[in-house]
Amino acid sequence: MSSKINSVGVFCSGGDAPGMNAAIRAVVRTALFRNLKVYGIYNGYNGMISAQFEELTAKSVGNLIQRGGAFLKAGRSKEFLKPESRKLAYDNLKKAGIESLVCIGGDGSYRGAHTLFEEFKIPIVGIPGTIDNDIYGTDYTIGFDTALNTALDAIDKIRDTAFSHDRLFIVEVMGRDTGYIALNVGLAGGAEEVFVPESPLSLEKVIEHIQSSVQRGKLSSILVTAEGQKPGRAYDLAEAIRKKSGFDAKVCVLGHMQRGGSPTAADRILASRLGASAIEGLLKGFTDVAIGIQNDQISTTTFLDATTKKKQLKLELLQLIHILST
Ligand code: ADP
Repeated sequence: MSSKINSVGVFCSGGDAPGMNAAIRAVVRTALFRNLKVYGIYNGYNGMISAQFEELTAKSVGNLIQRGGAFLKAGRSKEFLKPESRKLAYDNLKKAGIESLVCIGGDGSYRGAHTLFEEFKIPIVGIPGTIDNDIYGTDYTIGFDTALNTALDAIDKIRDTAFSHDRLFIVEVMGRDTGYIALNVGLAGGAEEVFVPESPLSLEKVIEHIQSSVQRGKLSSILVTAEGQKPGRAYDLAEAIRKKSGFDAKVCVLGHMQRGGSPTAADRILASRLGASAIEGLLKGFTDVAIGIQNDQISTTTFLDATTKKKQLKLELLQLIHILST
């Protein structure tokens, strides 16, 4: 199977993630290597609707691989949910001579890409750009490793002050309604316990754990919570712990710092491989699919599966975190 496309447009959509620039660079340079014209589409689906296109050269993506953010901007678009706006977007692409698309984003962006394919049959593939790592069909998403390391660096620093003042800290990390960052940073950062939306923890058990740590002479502790933990979020948890046990927990919400910064080597490598594979996939005639990585091999998953199936968090790591902090 091969395709006769002559041009490709690349865009970022949804939440931004470190490594998106490295992915754009890989898409652009591979497309040029394969003699395709390549266009940057600014501001995600909004930029498609308002024809914010720019033809890119190898130089356009120079000095970019190490930069956080997304130079094409990554945005959300309510307009794109309307069929008439998608028709306008498609007409703009056609007018500009953009024959195929690479979408860098999360599952919401994939849903938009799938809809665009269903309605207009334009060849389109996706690559996973989100710090949340919650995309079915890929072991890792672009940005996850960087966000994880940013959160880890923060936790290491919090540990210093927690130790000096014998304090209990609750650190809230991002991840939307999944616990990938929380679970992994909790393990890497030596947290006592981790709260993730996928598996509710008993507050009583957590308090017992902290009390037994204190009895053993461990006077500072770190709990990690995912932002999607319900009921919870860090301030509610701190209040509940104070009411039940009298422990005065300090709260640190890491927030958007996790979305920025220079991508790690792992994210740059992943972004480069996936970006190049997106172009090779389009040339082979792949469409309506997400490119991912599984067991270190490039893989494809239909947009439908990628947006309807759920990736399983390794919940057994919660037990490991508990054991290793006891
Ligand atoms: P992410 O890609 O990070 O999951 P969002 O869920 O915000 O981000 O989705 C990004 C954009 O994708 C939305 O703002 C919207 O324009 C588009 N989108 C999401 N779902 C659909 C859909 N069902 N049909 C068309 N477009 C969609």
